[in-house]
Amino acid sequence: MTSSTKESGHTQRPCDTCGNIYDKSFEVMHQGAVYTFDCFECAAHRLAPHCAHCGCTVLGHGVEENDIIYCCAHCARHEGAEDLKDRGDSSERIVETTM
Ligand SMILES: [Zn+2]
Ligand SMILES: [Zn+2]
Repeated sequence: MTSSTKESGHTQRPCDTCGNIYDKSFEVMHQGAVYTFDCFECAAHRLAPHCAHCGCTVLGHGVEENDIIYCCAHCARHEGAEDLKDRGDSSERIVETTM
């Protein structure tokens, strides 16, 4: 029994999406699991939710209805979700500035 450490704590882990080993890879913790990615596109590909209506990758907040994620309120409405607003829709009220 030899207790030899193979590498001195500097192991490069391959990207969890494409398997590429890159010296500038980074780790992302997501729902208790740690992933390694070589680029943000791989991270988004693996972790980002997809719109339940149009299927695009949701990189922003998106909108959520009953744990289903949509890229925008427009898509959510197409799937029957009501009472949803895009973030940013709340700027209807114009604030007057008095000099
Ligand atoms: Zn990758
Ligand atoms: Zn969508």
